[in-house]
Amino acid sequence: MLDAVVVGAGVVGTAAALGLALQGRQVALVEGREPAGWRGDEPDLRVFALAPDNVLLLERLGAWTAISGARVQPYRAMQVWDAAGGASLAFDADRLGRRELGWIVENNLLIDRLWKAAVDAGVELHCPDQVTARECDADDRSEVLTLTSGNRLRARLVVAADGADSHLRRMAGIDAPRHDYGQRGLVGFIRHTRSHQSTCWQRFLPGGPLAFLPFANAEDGCPRSSIVWSLADADAERLLAADEETFLSELARGFDGPLGELVGVSRRAAFPLRRQLATSQLAGRMVLVGDAAHAVHPLAGQGVNLGLRDINALLESLSKATGAGSDPGAQHRLARWDRQRRSDAAVSAHAFEAINRIFSNDSVLPTLLRGPVLGLTGRIGPLTRALWRHAAGV
Ligand SMILES: Cc1cc2nc3c(=O)[nH]c(=O)nc-3n(C[C@H](O)[C@H](O)[C@H](O)COP(=O)(O)OP(=O)(O)OC[C@H]3O[C@@H](n4cnc5c(N)ncnc54)[C@H](O)[C@@H]3O)c2cc1C
Repeated sequence: MLDAVVVGAGVVGTAAALGLALQGRQVALVEGREPAGWRGDEPDLRVFALAPDNVLLLERLGAWTAISGARVQPYRAMQVWDAAGGASLAFDADRLGRRELGWIVENNLLIDRLWKAAVDAGVELHCPDQVTARECDADDRSEVLTLTSGNRLRARLVVAADGADSHLRRMAGIDAPRHDYGQRGLVGFIRHTRSHQSTCWQRFLPGGPLAFLPFANAEDGCPRSSIVWSLADADAERLLAADEETFLSELARGFDGPLGELVGVSRRAAFPLRRQLATSQLAGRMVLVGDAAHAVHPLAGQGVNLGLRDINALLESLSKATGAGSDPGAQHRLARWDRQRRSDAAVSAHAFEAINRIFSNDSVLPTLLRGPVLGLTGRIGPLTRALWRHAAGV
């Protein structure tokens, strides 16, 4: 019998499988698609602003050196301002007593290096394969997953990391009420004439926030940033199809920032924005983690950070359950973990959504409110620090 089966090898599932294997457990990882791999010459459009607590997790998993040695971009400041009120908020590493505030990292790179480390740690891979059925043992001591290949995996713990449309969540009958924002996050790489100064820039427009995240220079030495632009569905469609010149001129009008001229754009993609919080992250011996449990607005870059925090907390809780005869699926431990993680996800989802409502809005009251709010937050050190601490997990 296995100690754990992890389903879904995105960043969150792969980190879970590696972490559990490093605790000396027998672990299998089931993934529906062969991983895309990482290519240095064509960066993945999906990049994350990784918070310091999650970089510490990757260090503890022994994967950070291989990731940072390939390509990561530290950021040392954040500038947030709104289009209408002219209010602004700044976070600065020096003032917060840190060398950097976080790191910009590509999704494919994280998966590639975590996957290799998981193989080295002895994780049993089932890829491409999928779960078709889940049964609990009569004595409740394990669960059995049946795969498309016909394999049957019996384990004491099942970790469902199969993304926002989680099949395992549906099979377990866990409800995950969903609020669609009617928006998409448009992503791509932009080349510009001035340096990004290792700074994340975010401007609140009436339609939603537009973020420029610093990235490694392009091959021709041109400064480059990754954008996440929250747009109404129809605008996202139009701008995905627009030619380069039209796209860059609309982007420049929306950004109005200090990066000089915007001179080039890569391939673009867009993903739907939704808030979706599972009513429970626990069903029998199965835990839900990452987007399978919670999808949030990308405004504060919390998506993958929340998922990795699920894993960090799970590993910490299970570290007390190692050794012969210990049960990683013991209910008292998992129930405590479930309560903590749902509360963190709910706070993040609703707090950042409220900020989005106030700042991405051109009606009178929010416009009157946000100047003083951003101004005050910028002036009062402890409040700035508290906001940053929540986003950074420190
Ligand atoms: C284009 C794009 C850009 C994004 N940009 C940002 C950003 O800038 N900042 C941010 O914080 N978040 C961003 N997000 C959201 C972020 O990608 C997610 O929060 C994060 O990837 C969640 O990781 P995960 O491992 O939980 O799920 P996923 O990355 O969705 O991984 C789920 C894995 O499970 C596998 N799987 C699914 N079903 C099955 C099955 N039945 N059997 C086996 N395997 C299965 C999938 O193939 C996949 O590998 C973006 C998303 C997209 C699509």
